Amino acid sequence: MKLLIVEDEPRIGQYLRQGLSEAGYAVDLCGDGAEGEQLALSGDYDLAILDVMLPGRDGWQILRAVRQAGLALPVLFLTARDAVEDRVRGLEQGADDYLVKPFAFVELLARVRTLLRRGGQQLQETVLQLADLELDLLRRRVQRGGRRIELTAKEFALLELLLRRHGEVLPKSLIASQVWDMNFDSDTNVIEVAIRRLRAKVDDDFPQRLIHTVRGMGYVLEERAP
Ligand code: CA
Repeated sequence: MKLLIVEDEPRIGQYLRQGLSEAGYAVDLCGDGAEGEQLALSGDYDLAILDVMLPGRDGWQILRAVRQAGLALPVLFLTARDAVEDRVRGLEQGADDYLVKPFAFVELLARVRTLLRRGGQQLQETVLQLADLELDLLRRRVQRGGRRIELTAKEFALLELLLRRHGEVLPKSLIASQVWDMNFDSDTNVIEVAIRRLRAKVDDDFPQRLIHTVRGMGYVLEERAP
């Protein structure tokens, strides 16, 4: 198990490195945020311990880059003070856990062990799937039956919504507010047109249709028996 520590206070960094090495982990210590970000993105580590205030890049920026890259790297945050907003912000941005300085080493070790056991299981789904239809949120790609389908940004957003809530009948008003960020106006046929275009790409060439109209209610994406 290889751990990355990004901490610019030498005393704390050394203390962590020594303790974790003695506990049997391979440890790299880095005191610079920008360099720490490169290391965190390398994919070489099983867990990262990030300080918040760092030269170059702060802990938030590193965490954001890691999550944007879709890495299942568990991240333990070290916050300098017991500020609730720091903790909430860290967890919202995808940190797996946090510790408030000063902390006891045994406490840190316990958190590290728990996170390593959990692995990257907490990571959000990045591929949405139904039957042979797949939407990859990170690569912004859609394929069905292994065949690539090109969608516009709106079509992609519409399909993402249908997939996230597959099996649920979505009213046009909800689709309008979620995908077009507009209030539903019954005179507009924007949604019908978009659904028709999406069907032409996603359903027309395949034996099984996935997008269904529920008359007077809306649309649903689901597998139905032929
Ligand atoms: Ca610091």
